[in-house]
Amino acid sequence: MASGASIRRNFLRTRLIVACLVCVVSVVAILASAQWWRQRAEDQLQNKAAETLAVQAEALSGILDKYRLLPPLLSREASVIALFQPGAGDQKDAARRKAIEIAGMSGAKDVAFLYPDGRLLATAGELFSGQGEEHKRLLEAVRQGRLGRQAISLESEQRAYAFAFGIRSDNQLIGVIAVYVDFDTVEAAWSLSTNPIFVTDNAGTVFLTNQPQWRLKPLDELMSKAGSSAQVLVDGKFLHADLTRDLPLLDWKLHVLSSERSLVVAWWTGAAIAGLVGLLFALIVFIFIQQRETQHLRMRQDRAAALRLERLVRERTKALSESNVSLSREIDERWQAEEQLRLTQAELVQATKLATLGQMSAALSHEFNQPLAAIRTYSENAVRFLDSGRTRHVSDNLTRINRLVDRMASLSRSLLSFSRKPGTEVKAVALAPIIDEALMLVRPQARKAGVSLVVNMKEEPLLVFGGQIRLSQVFVNLINNAVDALAGQTDGRVVISARQEAAGVIVRIEDNGPGIPPDQRESIFEPFFTTKDVGAGIGIGLSIASSIMGDFGGHLELEESSSGGACFIVRLRPAAVTEIAAE
Ligand code: ADP
Repeated sequence: MASGASIRRNFLRTRLIVACLVCVVSVVAILASAQWWRQRAEDQLQNKAAETLAVQAEALSGILDKYRLLPPLLSREASVIALFQPGAGDQKDAARRKAIEIAGMSGAKDVAFLYPDGRLLATAGELFSGQGEEHKRLLEAVRQGRLGRQAISLESEQRAYAFAFGIRSDNQLIGVIAVYVDFDTVEAAWSLSTNPIFVTDNAGTVFLTNQPQWRLKPLDELMSKAGSSAQVLVDGKFLHADLTRDLPLLDWKLHVLSSERSLVVAWWTGAAIAGLVGLLFALIVFIFIQQRETQHLRMRQDRAAALRLERLVRERTKALSESNVSLSREIDERWQAEEQLRLTQAELVQATKLATLGQMSAALSHEFNQPLAAIRTYSENAVRFLDSGRTRHVSDNLTRINRLVDRMASLSRSLLSFSRKPGTEVKAVALAPIIDEALMLVRPQARKAGVSLVVNMKEEPLLVFGGQIRLSQVFVNLINNAVDALAGQTDGRVVISARQEAAGVIVRIEDNGPGIPPDQRESIFEPFFTTKDVGAGIGIGLSIASSIMGDFGGHLELEESSSGGACFIVRLRPAAVTEIAAE
């Protein structure tokens, strides 16, 4: 798995490559877009300039056309011819009036009457004297019989276009009439246009223009070519699209220029738009890259976390299975130890039982000897009664013997049962027969010690969980201890009672002996605690009884008896009849 640093490095490299590509693409796009915008603006400018050119050319031609035919027409008028008739006297005033009249009617700037040699007869506005190079050219044309056409400029920067025609009488040139056309209105109309418009005459001088500072200056002086032929520098400013149209009638050229500024603006607009689009595109690309990087890093983190978790789980699982193995080994060992303990305990119980039997042996042998002696007496009596033919007494004695034998057999059975090795299983057992068997075993001892055993049990059978031999061992031990404690006491009495309670089956073994001193109450359940003489007890009876009760899920407790003696409580788990049936 790639590390976080290497992912960042990769994305940094990607960013650099993308940045370079975006830069290159952006530059190309900016240049292309700028060029396209400029071209578009240029086309528009061209169209606009062409339109302006057409309109203005027409306007100019219209104005001039209006005056062009005026001199030829007037030259044929009699009143005009009369002004130059030889012998007509001084016609200066008449000529002046006529000139004013014509100028007033036609709207011309001035009207002049001249002699063919250039001398002035009269003018309307007295603006033009008829002298000068321009007038010379004008009169030359007239003398040649043509319509004289000439741009005239005065020192006062006044300009006019003069149309002149000869006044003839008898085919003789006697005078000239010149009409001067004013361009102020044309220029005023042009001044509304944003494009520089100007007219150059055949000498290349700017004659008419909406740029006052260019007026009457040679075009070459104003204009210098710059860059492409389409670009011109006029008066220090770049202008573009020098559209020109010839005005053949006048021998003039009409020029319309357009400002380079709008093209520059268009170029920069195109560049800015492409630049912005490029910037936006770059931004989107970079945001996308950023997101991809974040996504990669997050995926890496998730994967690392998952791997960490996996490793942790693996380690934990390993540790768990190891501890499982060791636990099951421990359980096995514990189980074996428990099994061993149970076996040892069973052996100990057996040993204790045998010890108890040993302790009881004197009383038990007495228990056997006494009926044996009685049997002997009864059998001797029976023989005697048989000899004397008293058969009824024989039968009576034999019946007694039978009863005694039964009693001995029963005791012997109990002894046999008691001395058997106890099992380790826990099952449902009836309580009464076990207590009976225990009583049978301890009774000889009790009788010997002069202790009475009182059994206090209800009729209904009590069923408990336990083992028959081990439970009998518990009761034998407890009753024996009570009998031992009552030794030497004349009114010694042990009461054995059993009853079913909510908490379980309770068996109480209570005596009216000396009881157990409070400081010994804890110790009596400890192994090898005894207050008896050496040989009379080894101090393991109660500890074994307590552990047997633990095996049965029950409990052995000590209580103080109301009579001041000891009272041992045996608590057992109750069993149901169905469980006995199952057994
Ligand atoms: P042992 O009988 O061999 O001494 P036990 O464990 O059976 O061992 O008894 C331990 C001690 O508890 C006895 O030595 C005795 O001092 C005391 N004890 C047991 N039962 C009684 C009782 N009913 N009255 C007085 N003391 C008792």
